[in-house]
Amino acid sequence: MIQQPKGKFVKVRCKCKNEQVIFDKAASSVKCLVCGEVLAESKGGKAKIIARQLEELK
Ligand SMILES: [Zn+2]
Repeated sequence: MIQQPKGKFVKVRCKCKNEQVIFDKAASSVKCLVCGEVLAESKGGKAKIIARQLEELK
């Protein structure tokens, strides 16, 4: 197993169908660049992904 101590990038799809890559340890909330919907909330250094998750990028 490969450890991923620095978090990972996740591709998500917003309700508006915009696809955006976000970091799962984002320090602040991540919003959709198109419509402003919150895609992930920061929870103590680890982002809680709210939007639909499509895939993890490695
Ligand atoms: Zn959107």
